[in-house]
Amino acid sequence: MNRSGQPDFAVLGGGLCGRLVAWRLAGEGHRVALYERGDAAGTQAAAWVAAAMLAPLAEAASAELLIARLGASSLDTWPQVLAELPEPVFFQRNGTLVVWHHADRTEAPLFERRVRSNAPAELLDGGFVKLAGAQLGAAEPALAGRFNQGWLLPREGQLDNRQVLAALAAGLAQRGVETHWNTPVDDHALPPAHITIDCRGLGAKPVLPTLRGIRGEVARVHAPGIKLTRPVRLLHPRYPLYIAPKPNDLYVIGATEVEGEDMSPVSVRSALELLSAAFSVHPGFGEARILELNSQCRPTLPDHRPALLWDGAQTLRVNGLYRHGYMIVPEVADEAVRFAAALLDGRIGDADAFADWQSAARWSELFQLDSTREPA
Ligand SMILES: Cc1cc2nc3c(=O)[nH]c(=O)nc-3n(C[C@H](O)[C@H](O)[C@H](O)COP(=O)(O)OP(=O)(O)OC[C@H]3O[C@@H](n4cnc5c(N)ncnc54)[C@H](O)[C@@H]3O)c2cc1C
Repeated sequence: MNRSGQPDFAVLGGGLCGRLVAWRLAGEGHRVALYERGDAAGTQAAAWVAAAMLAPLAEAASAELLIARLGASSLDTWPQVLAELPEPVFFQRNGTLVVWHHADRTEAPLFERRVRSNAPAELLDGGFVKLAGAQLGAAEPALAGRFNQGWLLPREGQLDNRQVLAALAAGLAQRGVETHWNTPVDDHALPPAHITIDCRGLGAKPVLPTLRGIRGEVARVHAPGIKLTRPVRLLHPRYPLYIAPKPNDLYVIGATEVEGEDMSPVSVRSALELLSAAFSVHPGFGEARILELNSQCRPTLPDHRPALLWDGAQTLRVNGLYRHGYMIVPEVADEAVRFAAALLDGRIGDADAFADWQSAARWSELFQLDSTREPA
């Protein structure tokens, strides 16, 4: 531990990943400084807008095996993380319900086929339950009589994204992390530290040119009286939608997925599609109050996988969490923290040591050596 001079670690970006990595490193006794261009609440982060569903099986319809595995392990780890934070965070593991309207019934076998081919067997075993008629109403009373069929994915979870960000900010203060909110980092004048960990999401684009943003738009509504007990996904050929219930009758309705780094406000078309689809799931959403319409961009690498990129010297970049940040961040942050500690104490210093580390790592697929890039 270094208590004089520069910190052990400078974490760039205090969205989801940066906060968790900084908090974990401080918990191991390291001196950590965190630099975030936005506020302590996290309003500049993709993490602020996210629905924060922890749904590795439902996501397997469009994500590969690695993501489902990371998600399944992280689901088991989240409660331990939350138990150590100084503020309470809403977390539940009450499953995901997948439904479809009769006219879109051809979507159902496609979804099932994709999930079954991308998800690990241990997740599918007892984790993918077909519901019909009264069973669906018994599982989710708010939707009784509204859908004939559905799937219950009983082990999936969700949490409150803004509570996580707030609790992590409190945890950083509690663990003595030097937090620099409202402080954008310039790549030509990096803050002093032995090791730099870049968790800037899309803000790292100047040094990760292949990174791209995928726009997502969501609505946050207040809808007392509907009482959904778990996230509901509606299969649809053009407008697949989820409705994620949060505490106090709040619902996050999302999300569009549009290529391009467009952070402009939500379009009328997207708002109409999201809200109409929610209304088609339950007419009670017609009386809901729209609290926010938000857009953000998911930080995405070409292969849609997360990556831990080491520059061969003192910088580690953690990025590419795409649409799965909350779902996978405990495992990704864990690997980042272990690797960063090994960089600090000199166990990793060259490509051979990196290769040895990578081959022994639990999630070896996450690691990449980025030694060819010219310094910024
Ligand atoms: C609409 C939407 C819905 C989503 N729903 C889900 C979901 O249900 N489940 C799930 O698992 N994931 C979801 N996600 C994905 C999740 O939000 C992201 O994967 C996650 O936020 C990525 O974390 P990150 O820390 O890498 O990036 P971010 O959360 O974006 O944090 C990056 C931080 O870096 C800061 N920064 C950038 N540049 C600089 C700079 N130069 N100097 C200092 N700070 C800088 C930013 O201000 C930001 O706070 C969703 C995302 C969106 C947009």
